[in-house]
Amino acid sequence: MKIIIEREKCQGHGRCAALAEGVYSLDEEGYIETQSGDVPPDREREAYEGARGCPERVIVIEKNLMNEDPPDVLPMVSASCDPYDGAALGQTPPTGSDEMD
Ligand code: SF4
Repeated sequence: MKIIIEREKCQGHGRCAALAEGVYSLDEEGYIETQSGDVPPDREREAYEGARGCPERVIVIEKNLMNEDPPDVLPMVSASCDPYDGAALGQTPPTGSDEMD
């Protein structure tokens, strides 16, 4: 498993390191300093938990699903990725009665 750190998105919340101090570390200003790279198998669960805790989605998990078992904990998907999640935009989801004739 590999982690990709999109450091430019980091806002310094520190949740990644609080949840997974064995994987993620912060610099003196509180921003993530961990570099992208491979995660040892015994640290994968911790790496997922830290990634899930990041509200800015700075940490991307890259996993070769063809060769590995699925993790116990899956990363959350941002609600903004769901085109039918109108609540985030103040809209209601489309219904069948909205179709044009
Ligand atoms: S939780 Fe996310 S935003 Fe906060 S320090 Fe860690 S990587 Fe940066």
